[in-house]
Amino acid sequence: SQIIVCGGTGCSSSGSANLVDLLNQEISKHGLGDVVQVKRTSCHGFCENGPILHIKPAGVFYTKVKPEDIKELVTSHLINGRIVERLLYQDNSGTVYPYFWDIPFYAGQTRLILRNCGQINPESIADYVAVGGYRSLVKVLQQMSPDEVIEEVTLSGLRGRGGAGFPTGRKWASARKAPGEIKYIICNADEGDPGAFMDRSLLEGDPHAVLEGMLIAGYAVGSTRGYIYCRAEYPLAIQRLKIAIGQAREAGLLGSNILNSGFAFDIVLKEGAGAFVCGEGTALQASIEGLRGMPRVKPPRSTEKGLWEKPTVLNNVETLANIPFLMQMGGTAYGQLGTAKSPGTKIFALSGAVTNPGLVEVPMGLTLREIIFGIGGGIRDGKGFKAVQLGGPSGGCLTEQHLDLPVDFDSLAGAGATIGSGGMVVMAEDTCMVDVARFFLAFTQSESCGKCTPCREGTKRMLEILERICQGEAELKDLEDLERLCRVVKSTSLCGLGQACPNPVISTLKYFRSEFLAHIIEKR
Ligand code: SF4
Repeated sequence: SQIIVCGGTGCSSSGSANLVDLLNQEISKHGLGDVVQVKRTSCHGFCENGPILHIKPAGVFYTKVKPEDIKELVTSHLINGRIVERLLYQDNSGTVYPYFWDIPFYAGQTRLILRNCGQINPESIADYVAVGGYRSLVKVLQQMSPDEVIEEVTLSGLRGRGGAGFPTGRKWASARKAPGEIKYIICNADEGDPGAFMDRSLLEGDPHAVLEGMLIAGYAVGSTRGYIYCRAEYPLAIQRLKIAIGQAREAGLLGSNILNSGFAFDIVLKEGAGAFVCGEGTALQASIEGLRGMPRVKPPRSTEKGLWEKPTVLNNVETLANIPFLMQMGGTAYGQLGTAKSPGTKIFALSGAVTNPGLVEVPMGLTLREIIFGIGGGIRDGKGFKAVQLGGPSGGCLTEQHLDLPVDFDSLAGAGATIGSGGMVVMAEDTCMVDVARFFLAFTQSESCGKCTPCREGTKRMLEILERICQGEAELKDLEDLERLCRVVKSTSLCGLGQACPNPVISTLKYFRSEFLAHIIEKR
């Protein structure tokens, strides 16, 4: 059998590397080295319950394993065939789950893009190939023309997972059509939203899938050079990307004449320096060029004039990780997943006051209730639900009345929120919503690059008002000013950061106005 030890950032920080050594010692002490293999993989997404041990093929799933549990695990489970019950996951009602697939957190998910995360060794190209990795690239290079690839992606209806939901096929087609010999593919791995860690987990858990997606994009668009712009705060993701790029190069999957097809493509890894605004496409490109990471006015679109003024496709990590799966499945079949206008699945980072925080992948169109109460196990400590903040600092808060809303690009936008990149922060009944608005605005205010006045000055004034409200020093007039500033900043800022940063304030004012008023009226 095989013991999978979760080596994601969460489990690693609670000592999972140590568990690998202890398991190996104990296994060899009992002479089990020939029949039991210990393997360290990446994130299982069930971070709150780590360190996680998953025993295959039986599927027994141990949680919160400590070094002192290892002796008992080996003796009881491996030698005597008895499951160690106290290390199994138990839900709020006291039900114990011995097997991985029965745990509601996993049972409610459709893990297609995360299928390899936690299952394969992300530092081994052989592991990726063994589960069908790079098969899509082979298919594309040997059987399809670039136009056919774009047609397939267009047919699937895949929309960008970075936030805007722009159709990926259309983006690729316009870059392909754009005149010029030199074109670029950029993977945006500058995930910066508070509460979001989907891209980090994919890069840490399945880096080759992202490289394969970039290679296919490069072939389709007519590009020979790709860049991955990854934030420096993701050291494990960077380390695994470096390993994956090296392995792919050694295997002849990067470089010239890939798989004897005549197609040439290579990838450069760039580390961001921690500026949130560099997640914005034009600022990211300026940063790669060695300039200060500041957005520029659009148009021209990046697909016409992007990196070094050459046609550029900028896709986020999750979008690119969808590509190998999509090409294997075919565009029509992929389009049947999720909803008609938002096909496929979406990965969410479920966090906050929920019982089972973690990384979840669901088909588009599942309701908020199914995600928060089904997969997430509801609100922790027996408290009531108050709100869910979607889409990070550019998104909005939704309330109990929205719990049965399908989660897809258009339904959320209609309610004043956004899928964004996939952050989903759940709040319990005792959360102060004014404080939530202040938190998100403080974040964007400190990350404003300062290039344009509405965002630079407007967010500062908005934050001052919110702070006065929180301290009980505001007047009704302040609320009017806050609303006016929201409108001005939203409609006159240069880039998406400024245009969307009033959203958390607007949505909390819309649904929790009484809380704002209570802070003001209490003062009188
Ligand atoms: Fe910079 Fe804000 Fe203007 Fe964007 S909106 S360019 S972040 S100042």
